[in-house]
Amino acid sequence: AGAGDPILVVRELYRHFGGIKAVNGVSLDVDRREIAGLIGPNGSGKSTLFNLVSGAVTPDRGQIRFDGHEIGGRKAHAIARLGLARTFQIPAMFDNMSVTENLLAAAAEGHWQGARERAAETLALLKLDHVADNRASDLSGGQQKLLEFGRVIMRQASLILLDEVTAGVHPNIRKIILEAIARLRERGITFLVIEHDMEMVRNVCDRIIVMDAGRVVASGSFNDIVRNSEVMQTYLGR
Ligand code: ADP
Ligand code: MG
Repeated sequence: AGAGDPILVVRELYRHFGGIKAVNGVSLDVDRREIAGLIGPNGSGKSTLFNLVSGAVTPDRGQIRFDGHEIGGRKAHAIARLGLARTFQIPAMFDNMSVTENLLAAAAEGHWQGARERAAETLALLKLDHVADNRASDLSGGQQKLLEFGRVIMRQASLILLDEVTAGVHPNIRKIILEAIARLRERGITFLVIEHDMEMVRNVCDRIIVMDAGRVVASGSFNDIVRNSEVMQTYLGR
């Protein structure tokens, strides 16, 4: 990672599940206002890394520092309160509530003031205005992905972790997501995104971190990564 004061610092992080070394000695930095892409084959430990950083899973050992706080092993709600938000591979929302109500319900503790205004901004940013009053369960799969992203935006986090938000969504929705990420970064938000779509990685990520078998095996620009023949072989099978 670049010089300065990274928002996220991970050092020698380990988490095994029985005999599975899901995260097996990961160290990485994410710089402020960076859009970092995390790629790697299925089962390489990407989601487990997100679970460790967001407090859903406890590390066996290692350090995680977020915005100056040592957060390794802290509870998820305590980490969220420090300004870290994430999506899950399967969107979580209140099915029986409207899109707007879902956004308002996600407004972070201490951030309720102005929540209506921010919900309106978020609806516009994600082009969900026309379904604002629809029940969440009536949305298309792609719109549900947008809503989950919107709920994360409402938390006013400084670091957002996105786990495959563009997987399986229509190209129009993917474009909305990519534009929203770029806009939010302009406002100072940092992103770490797990992504399989190399087009998206190339277009939006400043830097790419490659995981394989629980470890970081490469990090660099898209061009650096593409030129790294070992990565291309393990990851893309070329
Ligand atoms: P990725 O997101 O890169 O596809 P994961 O982090 O989901 O990979 O999984 C890494 C490995 O850890 C896989 O072998 C997976 O089956 C295993 N794993 C992840 N979470 C658990 C868990 N809660 N219990 C048991 N095994 C798990
Ligand atoms: Mg995963």
